[in-house]
Amino acid sequence: MKDKITIAIDGWSSCGKSTLAKALAKSLNYIYVDSGAMYRGVTLYALRKGWVGENAIDQEEIVRSLNHISISFEQNKNGTPDLLLNGENVESKIRTLEVSNQVSKVAAIKEVRTFLVDQQRKMGEEGGVVMDGRDIGSVVFPNAELKLFVTADPDIRAKRRFDELVSKGQDVELADVRKNLKERDHLDTTRDESPLIQTEDAIILDNSNLDQSEQLEVALDHVKNALAS
Ligand code: C5P
Repeated sequence: MKDKITIAIDGWSSCGKSTLAKALAKSLNYIYVDSGAMYRGVTLYALRKGWVGENAIDQEEIVRSLNHISISFEQNKNGTPDLLLNGENVESKIRTLEVSNQVSKVAAIKEVRTFLVDQQRKMGEEGGVVMDGRDIGSVVFPNAELKLFVTADPDIRAKRRFDELVSKGQDVELADVRKNLKERDHLDTTRDESPLIQTEDAIILDNSNLDQSEQLEVALDHVKNALAS
């Protein structure tokens, strides 16, 4: 029986990966790492500098600035990690549709990925980690003892994300949220650098008809098996 394992959670945009990863980490007393937040942090930095916008992206400036970007996490009062960008808590600023609309372009840059993947590997080197993203099982932790690929019906995903943004006071349209998810899924699966794929050893978890506690129960069963094998 293993002591602590590495759990890699990948899947489509807004399919409940982070919700599941957070709940698993809490229940197992593991570290939770939201790798998407790290890409969002770099994107926010680039947006503030005017290096990424609707029709253009200055990849060279973004790459050149990487050694001025520090990405870290701090626990908030709910016990979940907030993203710090050069020491500033930007947790709510990285969740806007403006950042969502640009992040997949920034995440497609090879040097950005290398910069963040190195940090992600360090965060998980001791094991006992749940990390969610797009390339966790394929690139960051190819030897993870448990790999989950989370999926859900696209309309259900769009509605969940829409409700989440509205509950945070953001003024958004369902059609815009749906469009953003579709575009991000397209960019994330078709980019050259570590695209979103479902690895052969990943277990599919379709949560279209599961609530959060049901989804956690299913995942915990898989953890039990992985710990025993
Ligand atoms: O998980 P989240 O939706 O916050 O991720 C935002 C974006 O960051 C994704 O759409 C994807 O473009 C990028 N990402 C990535 N690799 C990861 C995590 C996120 O390319 N491991």
